[in-house]
Amino acid sequence: MKTIGILTSGGDSPGMNAAVRAVTRAAINRGIRVMGIRRGYSGLISGDIFEMDVRSVSDIIHRGGTVLYTARSEEFKTEEGMQKAIQTCKEFGIEGVVVIGGDGSFRGASDLSARGIPCVGLPGTIDNDVGCSDYTIGFDTAINTVIAMVDRLRDTAQSHDRCSVVEVMGRRAGYIALEAGIAVGASAILVPEVPYDIENDVLKRMEKISKTGKKHFIIIVAEGLEITDKLTEIIAERTQMNTRSTVLGHVQRGGSPTGYDRVMASRMGYHAVELLSQGIGNRVVAFKDSKIVDFDVQQALSMHKEFPVELYKMAYEISI
Ligand code: ATP
Repeated sequence: MKTIGILTSGGDSPGMNAAVRAVTRAAINRGIRVMGIRRGYSGLISGDIFEMDVRSVSDIIHRGGTVLYTARSEEFKTEEGMQKAIQTCKEFGIEGVVVIGGDGSFRGASDLSARGIPCVGLPGTIDNDVGCSDYTIGFDTAINTVIAMVDRLRDTAQSHDRCSVVEVMGRRAGYIALEAGIAVGASAILVPEVPYDIENDVLKRMEKISKTGKKHFIIIVAEGLEITDKLTEIIAERTQMNTRSTVLGHVQRGGSPTGYDRVMASRMGYHAVELLSQGIGNRVVAFKDSKIVDFDVQQALSMHKEFPVELYKMAYEISI
C-alpha cells in the first residue's frame, strides 16, 4: 500500500489525536503516504483532504478533541455517497483508510472495505460501548474528568450536608458511571445494565448509611436512564435532605488525554498501520484480555461485552 487516509468519525474523544499521530508517523516511517481526511466520511465525500507529514502531527499528543475534526454523514450511508467517497479515494490515490470512531463508523468502514478500499477501525469513544474491546480511546480521560468534577462537588456537598445527584455520560451504557462511581465512593450507582429499585437501592440504603453518621451523599446516574431530575425530586422529598442534581455533560468529552489514553491510542494506531501495510483491511483493532488484537468488522459488530456486575456489587458493599 502506497497511500492511506485517516479520519475521525462520530463523537470526538480525548486520545484521538494520539492515535492520529501514531498512524501518521508509523505509516510515513514505512514509506507510506498519509492523507488527512477532515470531518469523517463527509470529508471523504467532499474531498476535504490534505497530505500529512511527520510534523503535521506535532504538538497534538496532549490535546483533546481531534485535529481532523469529526462529523456524522447521512450521505455516506447511501450508495451514491459511498460511490462518491470511493471516487475521492481514487483521485487522491488512497488505497486504505484508518477510521477512528464507534460502531457506526465501523459499519461505514466495512461498507468501504467491501467496495475495495480496505479499512481498519480504532475504537474511539468515551462511552466504552464497543462490544469487541475492553477499552475505548478516551474512556480513561472521561473517568478522570468525572472524578475531578465530583471531588469538587463532594467538598460542597460535605460542607452543606447535601445529597448530590450527578448524571454522567455513556449514552446507553453505564461504564463511565460504574468506574467513576467506584472511584468517587458514590453511595449509589444507577446504570442501564443492572436492574434497580429506587426504594431499596437508593432511599433505604441512604437511610441505613445515614444511621452510621454519614451526612452527605453522592449518587451517580448514567445518562441513558433519563431519571436524574425525577430521582433528585424523590430523594429530596423522601429524605428531606438538601438535594441537588448536576449534569456534567460535554466537559466529559474534552480535556487533555490521560497517560493511559495516550499510550493505548498510540498502540492501537500503530497496530492499524501494521495491518494496512500488509494490505489487511475490514478489521477493528481492540483491547482484549490485556492485549491489542484485531477482529473482522462484522464479527466485531456482533460481539457483546458483559457488564462487570461483580464490580457493581463490590461498589455497593464498600460504599456504606
Ligand atoms: P459514537 O459512538 O461516538 O457516536 P459512531 O461511530 O458510532 O461514534 P455514528 O454516528 O453511529 O457514530 O456513525 C458515524 C458515521 O459513520 C455516520 O455519520 C455515517 O457516516 C457512518 N455510518 C454509520 N452507520 C453506517 C452504516 N450502517 N453504513 C455506512 N455508514 C455508516
